[in-house]
Amino acid sequence: MREVMHFVGGARLAGGSGRWGEIYDPNTGEIQGRVALADAAVVDAAVKAARAAQPGWAALNPQRRARVMFEFKRLVESQMEALAALLSSEHGKVLADSRGDIQRGLEVVEFACGVPHALKGEYTDGAGPGIDVWSMRQPLGVAAGITPFNFPAMIPMWMFAVAIAVGNAFVLKPSEKDPSVPVRLAELFLEAGGPPGVLNVVQGDAAAVEAILVHPDIAAVSFVGSSDVAARVYATAAAHGKRVQAMGGAKNHGIVLPDADLDQAVSDIVGAAYGSAGERCMALPVVVPVGAGTAEALRGRLLSEIERLKVGLSTDPDVQYGPVVTAAHRRRIEDYIELGVREGAELVLDGRGFALQGHKQGFFIGPTLFDHVAPKMKTYQDEIFGPVLQIVRAETFEEALALPSEHAYGNGVSVFTRSGQAAREFARRVDVGMVGVNVPIPVPVAYHTFGGWKRSAFGDANQHGMEGVRFFTRVKTVTARWPGDARPGESAFVIPTLR
Ligand code: NAD
Repeated sequence: MREVMHFVGGARLAGGSGRWGEIYDPNTGEIQGRVALADAAVVDAAVKAARAAQPGWAALNPQRRARVMFEFKRLVESQMEALAALLSSEHGKVLADSRGDIQRGLEVVEFACGVPHALKGEYTDGAGPGIDVWSMRQPLGVAAGITPFNFPAMIPMWMFAVAIAVGNAFVLKPSEKDPSVPVRLAELFLEAGGPPGVLNVVQGDAAAVEAILVHPDIAAVSFVGSSDVAARVYATAAAHGKRVQAMGGAKNHGIVLPDADLDQAVSDIVGAAYGSAGERCMALPVVVPVGAGTAEALRGRLLSEIERLKVGLSTDPDVQYGPVVTAAHRRRIEDYIELGVREGAELVLDGRGFALQGHKQGFFIGPTLFDHVAPKMKTYQDEIFGPVLQIVRAETFEEALALPSEHAYGNGVSVFTRSGQAAREFARRVDVGMVGVNVPIPVPVAYHTFGGWKRSAFGDANQHGMEGVRFFTRVKTVTARWPGDARPGESAFVIPTLR
């Protein structure tokens, strides 16, 4: 049976609490390996290795750090197929989607290759008599990242590519459900010329997270996961003096205006609702048709498109999505479907009880569609995180705009329309952090920045792009005057001003 270890100081580390987590193959439902679960001592060993490596790494000029990132990107690309297969085998998403998971992470690595430019400070010549002012961005020291199961390659790279390129050392605590790819990434970083200790991986569960949040030598924590955990991580890490960003859950709406290109909207919505079995924070689990005519037309077309979906093994290139990550998660999704029925929504398609021929123990769940879902229902308010699409009907543009705006989550939203004016107004007024216009999964490109609003994010710094650079650095501002330059004659006892 495969054993997945920590990676500390450039080597696999077997130590730990003696506790192990089980790694499932979601296709078969069988246990395929086990993962070591770190205790505080393992976290401490990783932080010590990071502290030892960080000053030398930060002292390299940024161009040289960028070259390591270039080589890392090349190595990951050369291993793409093996990494994607490993990712699919633990997560259950189809191979093409696993390649996408890795590729979206690599795009942040590409951004990090431009770190010399990103680190340039500001300069004012002659801010006062004989005085120049400049700023520089310096790394924080040791930063930590805690990541969810649903993007085991992309989200670690969102964090460590930027954190490391700007000169920090990093301790990554990936999800214990699919822990293998993050370790492979750390090994490839070492192979690319990254010094041992600059990128460490501690495997584990809540105990490892607790140890990270209170560790005195970790300067910053970046978290992505569900909202209740994100809120607690934010509060605890901040109470321990750390800089912290904590991204949470989501319930993204797709608003379909009467003038939308319905064929395009339907194919976009079906892909975004059911791709990766709905296990994406930027999935589109709620669709809001505006007007009864739009609702009827949309429902009919959605239904015929959804009925054609093929669900199957993550290794099958002909299926649209595979199993969900664990049996417990499948149960949770099925419980929500049951609740939706009890709450009075119309269950149009029921994915419960889906069994794949020859893989009856796999964690499969068929595509599910609800209509006449109401905002007061718990199944509307909660994140289900499965292949369940809910239709919430609205009469007017204002009503449709209010739904995502008043929802507790505010990660992403999409509007489907041919009207530039309506799209512009929607984008400006909606109370959500990332907006798509005829784009179903508006995950911003790497050199922009990713982050939701409200219960979808705690803290004020987004992931990657210049926001990521700002999060993982601190600014030092120098005000300088040299002997021989003209001096103002005023007393040193008053605050200097420019008057
Ligand atoms: P999760 O909250 O269960 O786990 C996330 C991380 O926190 C994991 O590393 C896990 O080991 C750790 N953890 C879990 N429970 C903990 C606890 N009680 N105390 C301390 N640490 C704990 O999330 P998940 O199920 O792995 O991922 C799915 C969730 O992540 C969804 O809610 C999804 O919307 C969200 N997500 C958000 C974004 C975003 O950018 N906003 C991106 C991807 C996923």
